Amino acid sequence: MRGRLTAKRLETATFICTECGGRSPPSKVYVEGVPLRGWRCRKCGYETISQRDMENALALLQARKEERMRIAKRGNSVMITLPRTVVKALGLKLPGWGDVSLADPETIIIKVRRAKA
Ligand SMILES: [Zn+2]
Repeated sequence: MRGRLTAKRLETATFICTECGGRSPPSKVYVEGVPLRGWRCRKCGYETISQRDMENALALLQARKEERMRIAKRGNSVMITLPRTVVKALGLKLPGWGDVSLADPETIIIKVRRAKA
């Protein structure tokens, strides 16, 4: 059956750029440093994000806004509650692990460890 457009075929297809008419082959499109599926025009550089990854892109942009969070004591440990927007944007699987370090006296860096696929 010719021309049957599955999501997989759609994402590997080259499109004509809506801005300049140039060719847009599949390409990684970076939002906040995170690679998403999409297309980049070879002529003008216009980028389109895959519909399937659009929700991830929106979650990343929402998580970029600073939010208040709670720092509390639990037994001998200190607990930090992550905002829902950050958890969603990271796609965290819980329980999980991360690595924490101090960047400066006011900034904590948490690197999330992703489960190997
Ligand atoms: Zn273009």
